[in-house]
Formats: sequence, structure tokens, C-alpha cells
Amino acid sequence: MVLNYQLFIDGDFRPATQGGVIEVMNPATEDVYATVASALDEDVQEAVTAAKRAQPAWAKLPAIERGRALNALARELRQHTEELARILTYEQGKVLSLARGEVAAAADYLDFTAEWARRYEGEILQSDRPNENIFMFTMPVGVVAGILPWNYPLFLLVRKLAPALLTGNTIVIKPSEETPVNACEFGRLVQQAGLPAGVVNILPGGRETGDLLCRHLDIRLISFTGSVAAGKQIMAAAATHMARVSLELGGKAPCIVMEDADIELAVNSIRDSRIHNAGQVCNCAERVYVQRGRLAEFSTRLVEAMRQVRFGDPFDETMDYGPLINDTRRQAITHVVREAINDGAELLTGGGYGPHKRGFYFEPTVLGNCTQNMRLVREETFGPVLPIIAFDELDEALAMVNDSEYGLTSSIYTRSLHTAMRASNELQYGETYVNRAHSEAIQAFHSGWKQSGIGGADGKYGLLEYTQKRVVYMQN
Ligand code: NAD
Repeated sequence: MVLNYQLFIDGDFRPATQGGVIEVMNPATEDVYATVASALDEDVQEAVTAAKRAQPAWAKLPAIERGRALNALARELRQHTEELARILTYEQGKVLSLARGEVAAAADYLDFTAEWARRYEGEILQSDRPNENIFMFTMPVGVVAGILPWNYPLFLLVRKLAPALLTGNTIVIKPSEETPVNACEFGRLVQQAGLPAGVVNILPGGRETGDLLCRHLDIRLISFTGSVAAGKQIMAAAATHMARVSLELGGKAPCIVMEDADIELAVNSIRDSRIHNAGQVCNCAERVYVQRGRLAEFSTRLVEAMRQVRFGDPFDETMDYGPLINDTRRQAITHVVREAINDGAELLTGGGYGPHKRGFYFEPTVLGNCTQNMRLVREETFGPVLPIIAFDELDEALAMVNDSEYGLTSSIYTRSLHTAMRASNELQYGETYVNRAHSEAIQAFHSGWKQSGIGGADGKYGLLEYTQKRVVYMQN
């Protein structure tokens, strides 16, 4: 049975005015799993109008009440964990345990952000004049557009919605056209949690819908997670009316493995990092630089570890990962792997699609003898594929790792404090992990350097992205 979903505008579900429909595919079976109304001009207009109308009253509530609304949403998510997790597995293809973890992480994020209600603050400044107070207020920006990718759709929805709402903004969310169903279900939970109409609006649609939203004059902040290419287009659209942007973009996360590393730890963490969600994670190991003295040992053990990985039906709880999101992505990955092999890389394991008759699967894949100029080493792959590059000295590794347009996450495996310190100081990345797999904490700050983004998410600094300052000079 194919499920049907509508837009969520001003507290209610409604069909799209111009009647567009997105067919959502289950990437494990290649069947259409749901149809979702797709928003265009009038729908965008109505959603932004509803959000704008709702914003002043929402901002006037004490922050603690906005925080309670986030707690109520967290409770709804927890009560509906199983159905939401199954939806995520159906439309995105992640294994069910990971989908359950995504729902749990989203609920925790809501509660964590709610705690900030009593904690974010303004300032009182020293005045140069007698009998004057200078107050600096931390204010909402107004209506926020949240534009989402498909790889962690529910968590990323909440990562935008929670700080936006807590600080007194209202929001219009455009989920990815690949994974809109969980967002529509989230709209139902917004109703059940009793949030005022218009505070949260959900507009499924494609690139055109996103563009219309970004160009709307009443959007004051565009919080976008997705590819660098779309990030550039969104920044250009924002420039037309000077909307702020917060951009969480792609990465090409390097891992450095030194000769003195705990090789077992490095192999297991890098494998786990690369197969997580079939390799479709912005911050996870995308290329490995191994010091020559341990190259053979590391490569052999990584290949063994990758051969142990099970991939297949994401509802089968013995699987480590499921399918890629679609065939276009699979073809693109196949292409860069073949190109690297033609340029001299050695296929050590994988490279094919596996035994499945249907579904966009890709084998756990390792390539040795890779070089810095290969696209496989330079461009984001977003699949379960790891290129290995050899180096002799740390300086050489740091130079290759920093020779990248991306600057999201990085890691190093070493037992030397000196080496770890040097890498932490010299890696040009928003995050560096030492002796552990790549995954960020919600109290930290997830931010890309260079073309990996502008601004960031999580913790205090992520919260403040959704605010602006106002100064009041009070003379008496
Ligand atoms: P994408 O850029 O193709 O699409 C993301 C969203 O943007 C979709 O909703 C799409 O409809 C919309 N969109 C595309 N072009 C647009 C435009 N010109 N104007 C407005 N909206 C537009 O990305 P994707 O394939 O959905 O996601 C994968 C990418 O997301 C990868 O590059 C990954 O690294 C990145 N990502 C980054 C982070 C992070 O925290 N830095 C997290 C998750 C994913």
C-alpha cells in the first residue's frame, strides 16, 4: 500500500495548491513507498506568511515555555520511536538500529536545547556617559528556513528546529525530496504536542521549492545542510535580500594513521566510521593516510575488517548497513572508483554491488596505492569506499590532508602526545578526533571550515546562530 502525505502549514495538513507530487522510493526494494505533496509558489507564500504571523507571540513567551514545547516534542518522538524509525528505514535505507538511534538522538537534542531556556543571555555594557545603561539583547531573527538533506533527515530537522524555536523564531522546513515522509509525520507530532499554529511549517518539495523559500523576502535566516554546490546557490539566493546563512556542507574527512598508532583501534574505528549509514555521513572517514612502516599491516587488517561487514536488507537486524539512497549516487561512486583504478589505484576488496537482486547496494570497498590527485581522494564520495594513501613523514601527511577544499572533520591515530598536539594545531578542519571515530557531541560545535560551510550547529554557538543582537542605550 502506498501512503499519501500533505503539506503542513499553519497547524494543518493540506494538499499542494498546484498539485505537485513526490514519489518516495524505498532504496532497498526500488518500490514507491509513499507519495507526498510538493509545495510551490502559493504554498511557500502561505507557509512563510503563517510563520511570520505566529512569530511575535511566540517570541513574547518566556523562553522556558518555548523550552517546554521542545520537551513536549521530545516526549512525542520517544512515544513514536518505532514508527518513526521504520519510516526512516523505508525511505532512507538506514538499518533499523541506526534509525532508532536517530529518533533517540533527535529527542535528546530537543531536551538538551530546552535546557538553554534559562541560560542564553544578553549583556549590560559599561557606558562612556553618566547615568546611562547600555543593554545588549539577544533577539530572534524572525522566520527561519530550514533546508535538509536526506542522510539524517529527522535529526537534522530537529537540529535546526530546536535552536530556532527556543530563541523565539518560527520555522519553515523543506525536507529533502528523497526523505519527506518522516518530516510529514513530525508535523503530526507538532500538532499533538500542542504548539501554536504557524510556529512550525513543513513544505516537502524539490530544489525549486527550496529556491522559492530562500528567495522569500520574509526569510531572515537560511539554515541549510547539504552539498557544497547547493550551498553556493543558496548563498547567492540569500544575497538577493541579505538573509543570513548558516551552511553545513560536505566533507572529505581524512584520517592519519601514524606508525606508533594502535592499529587495531585505527582499523576498527575507521571501518565503523566508513560503513556508518552506508558511508553516507558528512563527517565520517573518507580517505586514510597511513605511514609507510605500518602500511602493509594496516591495509591487510582493514581489508579483513571490511570483508566481515554485512550489508543488505536494512530491516534485517544482523546487517551493518543498507542500500545507498538512489541509483544516481551509486553510479557516481562506481564512476570515481573505476577512474581511480584506471589511474593506478589497486582494488583491495569490494567495488561491486553485491548479491542483491534489487536495491541500491554497494560493497564495502578498499583501494590501495591511491594518490592525492585522484577524484576518489579529493571529492566527497558518500559511500562505503576507502582510498588508502601512503606517506613517510607527518609533515607530508599534514600537507596532503590540508590540501583540500573541504574542512569539516579529520582524525589522527597515534600514541605520541607531541604528534597529536601538532596535528590538532595544524589540521585545517572544524573538528579533529584523536584516536577515535568521527562523531560529534551535541554540546560542542559542528562547523565546517573552507568550503565545508559557514557558521555551525550545536551547543551555545550553534544556538546563537539563530539570534541577532540589539543594543538599547538608556539615558536617565
Ligand atoms: P543536496 O545539496 O543535493 O540537497 C540538500 C537539500 O537542498 C535538499 O532538500 C534539496 O532539495 C535542497 N536544494 C538543492 N539545491 C537547492 C537550491 N539551489 N536552493 C534551495 N534548496 C536546494 O544534498 P543531499 O544530497 O540531500 O545531501 C548530501 C550532502 O549533505 C552531502 O554533501 C553531505 O556531506 C551533506 N551533509 C552535511 C552535513 C553537515 O553537517 N555538514 C550533514 C549531513 C549532510
